[in-house]
Amino acid sequence: MSAAGSRGAAERADETLIRAAIAAAAAADPRDVPVGAVVFDAAGRELARAANAREALGDPTAHAEVLALRRAAAVHGDGWRLEGCTLAVTLEPCTMCAGALTLARIGRLVFGAWEPKTGAVGSLWDVVRDRRLNHRPEVRGGVLESDCAALLDTFFHAQRP
Ligand SMILES: [Zn+2]
Repeated sequence: MSAAGSRGAAERADETLIRAAIAAAAAADPRDVPVGAVVFDAAGRELARAANAREALGDPTAHAEVLALRRAAAVHGDGWRLEGCTLAVTLEPCTMCAGALTLARIGRLVFGAWEPKTGAVGSLWDVVRDRRLNHRPEVRGGVLESDCAALLDTFFHAQRP
């Protein structure tokens, strides 16, 4: 396969992962900002998914990524480690989630929309690719960006009086 051909296939595969994260976001409580995250193992099998549930759980740490990482670790069978796994999330992770996914040793991060106000994977900071860290996941951002941003736009639009 040509380099262009394999790149196209990889992009399509990432879009499939983000579509799963979009589906996870759609399950968010109506009070919660719709962000969804899904963890896949090295073979591409889904381990866990979650939506942001800060309002639903009254928990400041209940971001989609943290909830999905916890659930994935519980079923993955290597303690807290998620080595070789991929995290797909609809929005660029914040500092907490970027830290959590790095600590979980996620191998690859794929995200949808960029978050210029709080993003910690390139926008405001780049926590996951800090060269001082031992573990640095591979990253791809901006996958199905407009679909992911549309979820948020719809939510915030409905919030306005
Ligand atoms: Zn977060």
